[in-house]
Amino acid sequence: MNTLVSHPVNQTTEPNGFRYRCVGIGIGPANLSLASLLHSHPEVSNLFLERNDTFSWHDGQLIPGATLQVSLLKDLVSLSDPTNAFSFLSYLHAQGRIYHFINAQFDAIPRQEFRNYMEWASRNNKNLVFGEEVRAVEFDGLFHVRTNRRTVRAENIAIGIGHQPWIPRYAQDKLGSTQFHVTDFLDRSRAVEGKRVAVVGGGQSGAEAVLDLLSRRDALPRRVCWISRRENFFPLDDSPFTNDYYMPSHSDYFARLDRATRAKFNSRQVLTSDGISLSTLQEIYQRTYVHRFVNGSPDLVMLRPNREVVQVTGAPGAWDIAVRHNDHPGAVEHVDADVIVWATGYRPASMDFLAPIDARLERESQEYRIDQNFAVRWDGPPDRNIFIQNAARQQRGLADPNLSLLAWRSQRIIDRLCGARTDNQQPSFIEWAVEVPGREPRRV
Ligand SMILES: Cc1cc2nc3c(=O)[nH]c(=O)nc-3n(C[C@H](O)[C@H](O)[C@H](O)COP(=O)(O)OP(=O)(O)OC[C@H]3O[C@@H](n4cnc5c(N)ncnc54)[C@H](O)[C@@H]3O)c2cc1C
Repeated sequence: MNTLVSHPVNQTTEPNGFRYRCVGIGIGPANLSLASLLHSHPEVSNLFLERNDTFSWHDGQLIPGATLQVSLLKDLVSLSDPTNAFSFLSYLHAQGRIYHFINAQFDAIPRQEFRNYMEWASRNNKNLVFGEEVRAVEFDGLFHVRTNRRTVRAENIAIGIGHQPWIPRYAQDKLGSTQFHVTDFLDRSRAVEGKRVAVVGGGQSGAEAVLDLLSRRDALPRRVCWISRRENFFPLDDSPFTNDYYMPSHSDYFARLDRATRAKFNSRQVLTSDGISLSTLQEIYQRTYVHRFVNGSPDLVMLRPNREVVQVTGAPGAWDIAVRHNDHPGAVEHVDADVIVWATGYRPASMDFLAPIDARLERESQEYRIDQNFAVRWDGPPDRNIFIQNAARQQRGLADPNLSLLAWRSQRIIDRLCGARTDNQQPSFIEWAVEVPGREPRRV
């Protein structure tokens, strides 16, 4: 069995005046990847702080049957350091189940299993502290990271606080047991037997909610209405050349484009990250067929793509959803629902704790402007960095919120901390950049 050794300086015991080389804020997959890769760098003292008491990964949405949408090789560490002790394979080996995993021949890894892997990685790294929320970050040559329990000092900080659920403004004051974000789906969708449920949102989260509702054997809702702004319920494009968008070389190419071109790309290619897994679509279609034609429930499933919800009125348990058809903007349809599930996505979480130094940091509209090592550009000393993970989609592209480049991005951060440059992978087969003599020579 694999044994992981933890480093000594950490937790709440650092001596007076001790400064960490790096303090991480938030422990989701992004900073957990960084912490895991740093574990084999004892010269970089580090501490990671998470406000939740234990590790979690969208636990309220861990719907049975949900699977990972990327390769298992896109774990916390492997794509940068395949020999690292925090790989998914190390986890399987440490649990004594590596042969069983192979024999199970999963087409895609159960999301719960990947979550358990990350929880295992978090338990085996003593540089992580849970139940400690960062409230403010100040700077006087060192960062002073103030939490609900203490202040720690750091030469560099790494922020990985992820995204928070987003719901349209007109619904925000109506949330409760009959209107909720899909992030609370497991808890709140228990008692929907015999009810009219509307799921708003045509991405993977909405699809998983719909599939789950249609799969309840003895406790089916009376109706499941699925509404999406997209023209249809579109699949995730997981084909080989498309996946080259999720390589380091494309991320670097993308970052050099002008802002308008980046924005156009993200909007045109959104289905490469936000589309629905083909297997989920097939299951929904098959359930719909069986309910309609085999089980004699012709009106259980109501599919309404190409429509935008514009208002919700009514009262808990009797909601009236006003929906505008994209091809007929003058016509407003109405859908009655007892329960509304908002699968309307996420937005980057607010970094209020940076308020004391915010004016010193450069911005590109909503985002902090970052350099090639994911450090915010600011007026502080060059050896003091504020690294930001998963908060630069408009600068780094669709892969930024995704697991695909986790390990590579963490390695870029470590490179800056260690004064190294370790990128050593071949570029894409595709030549992304324009080949004009005298401009941007290709790096191989
Ligand atoms: C249901 C779901 C499934 C997904 N599945 C996939 C997939 O299969 N493949 C893929 O590539 N991507 C997937 N994603 C996208 C992406 O991998 C996840 O969103 C991932 O969780 C992002 O990691 P993160 O570390 O940036 O943020 P998070 O996971 O959100 O973690 C941030 C952490 O920071 C903590 N925090 C926030 N503020 C503070 C503070 N002030 N002090 C201390 N701690 C704080 C939060 O409590 C949280 O634990 C999925 C997303 C969702 C919602």
